[in-house]
Amino acid sequence: MKITRKRFLELSGACLVALSGREILALLDSPGPSQAGPASAGGPRKRWGMIIDTKKCAKEQGCTRCLEACNTTHNIPAFQNPAHRIEWIWEEPFEDLFPSYETPYLENSRKGEPTPVLCNHCDDPPCVRVCPTGATWKRTEDGIVMMDWHRCIGCRYCMAACPYGSRSFNWLDPRPYIKTLTADFPTRTKGVVEKCTFCSERLAKGQMPACVEACPEKALVFGDLNDPQSEIRKLLASQYTLRRKPELGTGPNVYYVV
Ligand code: SF4
Repeated sequence: MKITRKRFLELSGACLVALSGREILALLDSPGPSQAGPASAGGPRKRWGMIIDTKKCAKEQGCTRCLEACNTTHNIPAFQNPAHRIEWIWEEPFEDLFPSYETPYLENSRKGEPTPVLCNHCDDPPCVRVCPTGATWKRTEDGIVMMDWHRCIGCRYCMAACPYGSRSFNWLDPRPYIKTLTADFPTRTKGVVEKCTFCSERLAKGQMPACVEACPEKALVFGDLNDPQSEIRKLLASQYTLRRKPELGTGPNVYYVV
């Protein structure tokens, strides 16, 4: 029996409504098909992670070079309507990211400071578990949470499951809104979800993520968390860092020096 994309979404929405809260939790708790596989048993060879030094970042007031580099590299459209915005890396006030850190009496308060945010490439990503088509998965070789835009059916379960708001949905055709088209990166279409991929296409060429390379303060440090000799591991051993919502058990791999 043939089924249209619209009909699939109607049926899958109805199924979710029919599920009880306990059944939905059980679904989120079960390992998704894209996490299975022989390579996952031994763990990833690498595990990419990032540190964002908020003190260094704050030195360049008003700097958005990491955001601009990402937007240009990945053909991110410039929608004006905030409800339509596509954001792989964006900024939030520090206190919104770490509400339990700030107190009214803190000397080194970072309150109000725009702080970069991106996908955390979680160790146990809930977005991956809920995707019905395997359009998002965690790579066993390096831990990157990837997206295949061709397999995305736009159900947006991943957006609902991500506790960090790290995913964006193309409500409109993004192509007319791309300021400068980059020929060597694909554009997306209306009706698909997208997010940061830690610049997997650049890593494959031995390059750093575009945001890391663009930062004039070297506030972003990227590296292999499985390598004790890497710069990121040495920084994590010597600096006090925070992660967003670690209590959820998602295992975020983006750390913040505060
Ligand atoms: Fe998935 Fe959100 Fe974690 Fe990224 S931050 S891996 S989108 S749950």
